[in-house]
Amino acid sequence: MSAMPPGNPASNPFVSSPTYLMACQQLRNVVRDAGLDQGVADRLMLPKRSQIVSVPVRMEDGHTEVFVGYRVQHSLTSGPSKGGLRYAKNVDLGEVAALAMWMSWKCGIMNLPYGGAKGGIAVDPAELRGGEKERLTRRFTDEIQNIIGPRIDVMAPDMGTDEQTMAWIYDTYSMKVGYACPEIVTGKPVELGGCVGRKEATGRGVVYCISEALAELKISPEHTTAVVQGFGNVGSVTCEELVKLKAKVIAIGDRYGSIRNDRGIDIAKLLDYQSKNERKTVVGFPEAEAIPDAELLATPCTVLIPAAMERVITAENAGKLRCRVLAEGANGPTDPEADAIIAHSDIFVIPDILCNAGGVTVSYFEWVQDLAQFMWDETRVNAELKKLMLDAFRRVRAEAKARKVTNRTAALSIGVRKVANEKSKRGLYP
Ligand code: GLU
Repeated sequence: MSAMPPGNPASNPFVSSPTYLMACQQLRNVVRDAGLDQGVADRLMLPKRSQIVSVPVRMEDGHTEVFVGYRVQHSLTSGPSKGGLRYAKNVDLGEVAALAMWMSWKCGIMNLPYGGAKGGIAVDPAELRGGEKERLTRRFTDEIQNIIGPRIDVMAPDMGTDEQTMAWIYDTYSMKVGYACPEIVTGKPVELGGCVGRKEATGRGVVYCISEALAELKISPEHTTAVVQGFGNVGSVTCEELVKLKAKVIAIGDRYGSIRNDRGIDIAKLLDYQSKNERKTVVGFPEAEAIPDAELLATPCTVLIPAAMERVITAENAGKLRCRVLAEGANGPTDPEADAIIAHSDIFVIPDILCNAGGVTVSYFEWVQDLAQFMWDETRVNAELKKLMLDAFRRVRAEAKARKVTNRTAALSIGVRKVANEKSKRGLYP
């Protein structure tokens, strides 16, 4: 079945992106399996609304540089749209649209009252100097002001953005509307109405899922080895949480290279090393050996955790994976061709829209607290997160077993069905 969305491809601005086509193909597969209404499926294939803005920034040397920024809102059916803002060199409209679509399914699985959205600016944040990142963020916020709001679209951190970025968005929006409006973004600093444990939430959620998978496979955490691609917010917290369970992290890679130590990498020492070197990389860590990047994902281990980029597991390397569990910390790390290969192996897949849903779940807690002006403590945040993650994990496994489908198909079916059902029940306006 074609992965193409409805309409004339020549007039569809998203289809030049392989990531968007991948998201469409996943949706088509689920529509076919779950017997969804074609009209609703067609509506879900195209994002509700997308805005492309130019973002002029005064650079430190005085010249003006113009960046391209995107905000794509895939669905507003279930509530405001929700999703991160990504700063990365090669971000394009189609990629952001795919990521927005995945946010819809993710919120659907977790039963959060949100549709999916994503934003991006095509910029390498490592190249920004002095106040450039702040000016870029504030001007972008201003340019998309007309389509965001606490009941319309709520941003959060993603690749290349963090708590400070959210603080600037919060401030810029609040200056515009004339009052402090913390509920405009999540993933803010705790002092500004952020939620305790939000920063760690995605990694914690990943490890709650891994623990469930290991229990099902009757593997003890002490006998578990892990390989992690990515040592940003998601990858590093995942490593820390795995170490707390007494699992061994034996290899880690980032954008600069990969390292391995079969005796187990000391994560606290690695974090210290990473924070002190200029490129903020794991490369060169004295207590591990360098390995080629192509070897990282093929390293024999119990759990492989891609926690960096989309489409890193493809038809080329899917057959080379030597893990028992594939826990997708990143969004879209495995393409549909790789999926078909993995489906014939004994690898237990924890699909992205379930595995990394801890982030948006605690974002939801943050938004609820900001709206109510009543803050929770970390014990409550973590207990509620664990409850929702385990409930979602068990529903996905029950669906996979009952229908004899892969965990990915089960997760996508649950997420897509929730959104499709709400669309059908609300009806088509006018
Ligand atoms: N960027 C994160 C994600 O991909 C979190 C989004 C959010 O918290 O709204 O799930």
